[in-house]
Amino acid sequence: MGLTGLAIFKLLPKTNCGECGVPTCLAFAMALAAGKATLSQCPYVSNEAREALDAATAPPIKLVKMGSGDKVLAIGDEQVIFRHDKTFYHPTGIFIEVADNDANLAAKIDEINGIVIERVGQKYEVDGVAIANASGSADTFKAAAEAVAGKTDKAIILLTECPTCMEAAAGAIAARKPLLYAATADNYEKMVAVAKKVDAPLAVKGADLNAMAELVAKIDYKELVIDSGARQISQVIADQTQIRNGAVKKRFRPYGYPTIAFTTEADPAMEVLEAQAFISKYASIVVLKTTKTEYLMALFTWRSNLYTDPQKPIAVQPGVYAIGAANENSPVYITTNFSLTYYTVATEVESTRLPSYLIAFDTDGLSVMTAWAGGKFIGEAIGPWLKDSDINEKVKKKVLIIPGGVAAIKGKIEDLSGWEVMVGPRDSSGITSFAKLRLNV
Ligand code: SF4
Repeated sequence: MGLTGLAIFKLLPKTNCGECGVPTCLAFAMALAAGKATLSQCPYVSNEAREALDAATAPPIKLVKMGSGDKVLAIGDEQVIFRHDKTFYHPTGIFIEVADNDANLAAKIDEINGIVIERVGQKYEVDGVAIANASGSADTFKAAAEAVAGKTDKAIILLTECPTCMEAAAGAIAARKPLLYAATADNYEKMVAVAKKVDAPLAVKGADLNAMAELVAKIDYKELVIDSGARQISQVIADQTQIRNGAVKKRFRPYGYPTIAFTTEADPAMEVLEAQAFISKYASIVVLKTTKTEYLMALFTWRSNLYTDPQKPIAVQPGVYAIGAANENSPVYITTNFSLTYYTVATEVESTRLPSYLIAFDTDGLSVMTAWAGGKFIGEAIGPWLKDSDINEKVKKKVLIIPGGVAAIKGKIEDLSGWEVMVGPRDSSGITSFAKLRLNV
């Protein structure tokens, strides 16, 4: 368990000098216990106290980085068991497995590079490629690692339990900081030596959860990713759950690392469901085989939802957006800057094929009805804003189309802005027919 604020306070100098940014040592201790401060902010902690506090205040799960350049993947550093307790920080890395002896390896990497999905303003891509040493040959493995590294800047996992093969491949692409998978009870001394030599993170695989913990405790290298070795879905979920609970609640150090899970289903739909379960239950990396975009999209969406901060609505930048080649004769719609609402409305407006303006009104990311109920999407707020907005210079006809659900704000907007207000459909799906009927599209 982490230390309480009072336990931390006992180890602080108690001079209340304020150099840490808060007025008293007690306030600093409370901030430290809540994860809102770091020990380095106090310059006067004794070495003994620092040692005790470092261990007690270290994150329950270590942050591990792999990959290079713009594609560095950070995993771990999670603080909670349930997302709603705070938030999850580092989204699960999604990797596609390829074989080192695949005759179509180059084409496969092109295909993986080509997986780019855009949804509600977010761009989703696969995080990396896991290269399996299916050939068993060090030369083939090395050549495949070089070929993959030459064709993609995504993160790379090297999958082999053969230390010689790992040394050849990892040495060839060390600058890419691949994840080396895996050290086992049989090979760990050699694998650790390779990981240290190339300065890369190392995955530790056990025969089961206990064996994995024993192996982790023996390894004097801390850039680790852990795998209990389970492959049956129910066992993977049980192990992942035990690992997260042990790391967060009990601060059991051998569990305090990011985890990796592998799918086993051959059918892409089932495989993605399996991966989805692993993402939900704490896997830091999921390795799967399908490259089918229609299935991966569901996985990306699921991950995105899970790793969104539940206390912060996803918002777009407030402002006036042109949909198509909007001009002085274009209609003007308004919605809130809640990301999902904005992009849904924008898609519908776009499908009218009539170049238009769409105002994303600043509601701190709340949806239309919630913002209206909260007093953020009301005539008293929109009217004055509209009056001063540069949209006045952009269009000749001052007509604002508002969502039908908030028809009640029409009068106040008109009073305060001088614009005419047209009440649009209650649901954005009605925008196309609304435009046909009312805007003569
Ligand atoms: S800097 Fe250290 S000694 Fe000074 S108030 Fe903060 S915690 Fe206390």
